[in-house]
Amino acid sequence: MVKPIDTRAKHALGLGTRAAHAAVARPAGVAQPLVQPLYQSTVFRFNSVAQVDEVYQGEESGHVYYRMGTPNSTALEAAVAELEGAESGVTAASGMGTISALLLALAKAGDHLVADRHAYGGTYGLLTGDLPRLGIEATLVDVSDLAAVRAALRPNTRALLVETLSNPTLRVADVPSLVAVAHERDIPVLVDNSFTSPVLIRPIEHGADVSWHSLAKYLGGHSSGMGGIAVGRLDLIEAARQKVVHLGASLGPFDAWMVAQGLPTLTLRVDRHSANALAVAGFLAEHRGVSRVLYPGLPSHRDHNLATRLFGGRYGGMIAFSVKGGRSGAEGFLRSLELIAFAPSLADVRTMVSYPVATSHRGLPPATLQAMDIDAGLIRLSVGIEDVDDIIADLDRALAAAPAGRGSSAAAPAAAEQSQ
Ligand SMILES: *Cc1c(COP(=O)(O)O)cnc(C)c1O
Repeated sequence: MVKPIDTRAKHALGLGTRAAHAAVARPAGVAQPLVQPLYQSTVFRFNSVAQVDEVYQGEESGHVYYRMGTPNSTALEAAVAELEGAESGVTAASGMGTISALLLALAKAGDHLVADRHAYGGTYGLLTGDLPRLGIEATLVDVSDLAAVRAALRPNTRALLVETLSNPTLRVADVPSLVAVAHERDIPVLVDNSFTSPVLIRPIEHGADVSWHSLAKYLGGHSSGMGGIAVGRLDLIEAARQKVVHLGASLGPFDAWMVAQGLPTLTLRVDRHSANALAVAGFLAEHRGVSRVLYPGLPSHRDHNLATRLFGGRYGGMIAFSVKGGRSGAEGFLRSLELIAFAPSLADVRTMVSYPVATSHRGLPPATLQAMDIDAGLIRLSVGIEDVDDIIADLDRALAAAPAGRGSSAAAPAAAEQSQ
C-alpha cells in the first residue's frame, strides 16, 4: 500500500504543495464501490525500488504507466477473456489498433497472411496497403471456399484472418472448419467477432487462437466509448500487448470504463437485437420496395444452416437489404427515416443504417463492388433494442417515400434473397 502524503501535517508544506497533493486516491475502506472506479491516472506511485521490481516481475499486481495498461483496461481484458473462454486478453485504442498489433506481432518482412476478401474495410486497407509496404504480403480469398483457403496457405503464412459475419453482406464463416484447415499447418486463426459478440459465438471454443473485437460495437453497445480487444492464446496476446505498448496504441481508462458499462447488459441486448432483427428481416422480405434481404436468420440466406449451428438459434442484429431504384431509391429512403439514424457504425442500442457505397466501401471501383455483391441500393441495417413495431413503422414510411417504393408499402412480396 502506498503511503499517502499527510497534507494535514501543516508544518513545512506551503499552500501550493498542499493543493498539488490534495485529493489523492485513497483505498475505498471496508465497503467497496459497486461500479469499478475510473482510474484516470497516467502513472502510479511507488514506495520503493523493491516495489517497482515486484510489479515489473509480476510478483505483485499493479500498474506503472498508462500506456502499459491501467486498472480499467486490465479489468476489461479479464472480463472479456472470461466471457470468451480465453486465457488472456489485451486492449488497444480501437479495433484497428488491435488487429495492427496482432499482425505486427505475428508477421515480419517476407511473411504472408491469408484473409477473407470480404474483410472489414479497415482490415482490408491494412492488408492491401500498409502491411505490403513493410514486406508482409496478404492473399485475399473467399473463406467460404475451404479448398481456396487451403490452396492460399504457404510455408511462410503466419495467420488466417476471418470474420464471423462479413460486412456488409453477412456471409457466415465456418469457424470450426477454417480452424481445422489452418491448424493442419500450425497457422493461427484470428477471428473478428465484432458483428456477433460472445453471446452468439465464442471462437476460442471452436479452436480459434484469437477472437478480437471493435469495442465500439456490441461489447460497448452505446456508441459512447471506442477501443479494441483481442483475447486468446497467452503467447499471442502477450506478443500483441508488447506491440500495443511499443506503438502507443493503448486504450485510455475512460474509454475502457465506458465500454465496461455495456457488459452487464450484453446478453439482454443481443437477445433483443436478434429478436427484433428477425422480425424486421421478415418484414423487409415481404416488402415490394425491397429487392433482396440478407439476414442469416432467414431460411433463404445461403448460410442459414451454418448460422443456426454456430450461433445457437439467434442471428444477431445486422441485416443488409437492397432498396429498389438503386442510388436514388437509397437516397430517398435514407432522407425519409425519422427514428432510425443514418450513422455509419453499428451495434448500438438505437437502430441505425449505413450506406456502404457512400461510407465503408466508398470509392471502390464498380467491378470490386460487384465482386463483393454490393449494389447501389444496398443498405446496412443495425437493428436496435427499441419496440420493434416502431422500427418497422419507420422503415415502412421511408420505403414508401423512396422513388421505387412510393405508394407500394408491403403490397406484394419481393423475392427473398436466394443467390447470395
Ligand atoms: C468497426 C469494426 C472494426 C474496426 O474497429 P475500430 O474500433 O473502428 O477500429 C473491425 N472489424 C469490424 C467487423 C468492425 O465492425
